Amino acid sequence: MNRKQSEDLYKKACELMPGGVSSPVRAFGSVGGTPIYYKSAQGSRFKDEDGNQYVDYCMSWGPLILGHAHPAVVEAVERAAQDGLSYGACCRKEVDLAELLLLAFERMEQVRFVNSGTEAVMTAIRLARGVTGRTKILKFVGGYHGHSDSLLVRAGSGLVTFGTSSSQGVPDAFVAETVVCPLDSQEALEKAFLSCGNDLAAAIVEPLPANNGLLEQRPEWLRALRRLTADHGALLIFDEVISGFRLRFGGYGDMLGIDADLITLGKIIGGGMPVGAVAGSRELMESLAPLGGVYQAGTLSGNPVSLAAGIATLELLSDEKVYEQLEVLGRSLDAALEKAAGDIPYLKWRRLGSVFWFHLAAGDVPRSAEQIRPESAERYNRIHKKLLDRGIYLAPSAYEVAFLSAAHTREEVETLAGELATQLKEAVS
Ligand SMILES: *Cc1c(COP(=O)(O)O)cnc(C)c1O
Repeated sequence: MNRKQSEDLYKKACELMPGGVSSPVRAFGSVGGTPIYYKSAQGSRFKDEDGNQYVDYCMSWGPLILGHAHPAVVEAVERAAQDGLSYGACCRKEVDLAELLLLAFERMEQVRFVNSGTEAVMTAIRLARGVTGRTKILKFVGGYHGHSDSLLVRAGSGLVTFGTSSSQGVPDAFVAETVVCPLDSQEALEKAFLSCGNDLAAAIVEPLPANNGLLEQRPEWLRALRRLTADHGALLIFDEVISGFRLRFGGYGDMLGIDADLITLGKIIGGGMPVGAVAGSRELMESLAPLGGVYQAGTLSGNPVSLAAGIATLELLSDEKVYEQLEVLGRSLDAALEKAAGDIPYLKWRRLGSVFWFHLAAGDVPRSAEQIRPESAERYNRIHKKLLDRGIYLAPSAYEVAFLSAAHTREEVETLAGELATQLKEAVS
């Protein structure tokens, strides 16, 4: 495959931009090789600047559950753009999207719109600190909740693959306010709450951790976290930036029947445009300015064009048929993997609806970051480039999950399974 345009662009980008990229994992640092420059994308596929075609299983890291450039979403964006790109003032679309979102979450009464998942989490943390009058935050190893200071502690796939547990430039005083615990351990949870439960403003967790592998948690563990936070007067924040609207029209916490105090959203709710949100009870949310003393603002928040993409996406998702279709597609993937690669002892995968992850090592699929085997990443890195050459684009990191969209076909996932099996067998022989 010729990738001269991508190579040239990347070389130039490296002169102009740090690492050539706008977000670190895009640099292909762990899988090696040159990042591929997207030129256009449609449905499940994209074309690069050299005209090569790929089936995309990264899907912009999650927002594109309907596929690239879904006609209804594009049309909504075009129509909104005609009416003005930004108002910096109130508009009907805020009310419309708020109504749609709150309909989908059982206990959430109010929502504040922001521009990214990072901002949503930042806001939720400040709100938790503001209403509790406490400072400490509990998070879990490998949990990535955006790049704000207090949360860049033992976080995220980009940070895992770069081998650093936190970032330079984060003051020690902030790190000291962040307590970190492993996932999946009741004992560690109890210890953490025993030592500082009464100083915690909040615990934050992805109810379905999907930023450092797909580390499905036992519902009992999440329930223990719910109970311990409540007993100690700390809030529970479910970071549903990935899991929100991924498996159903609503949240993963509600699916398990576990209530959080605050929910953070992003990715799918913007349908490919920058939208984030924090939701919670009226009482908590009204602690935000202008009613309450917790300040938060944004020039482009509630932007009409972004919200138009979110509304169009959620309207399509509210017909739950999309989720049934994605489950059927996911089962085809499982079946094809069983058939093509069932005999490879170190190919393990976990799939929930349209999100899946390969752990390329023998044994059970991990439930905590500590259980992820280094050889899994080595194997992933070896086959990543080969799959690219066959027109299959997986995220450029072994720690990232893969996404199906409503635009992917059974044929495509069967090809993925077949190629994966072939490449894995070749890579070790
Ligand atoms: C992607 C993500 C974020 C950060 O969202 P951005 O829009 O990238 O700022 C936060 N939390 C989780 C769980 C995410 O997956």
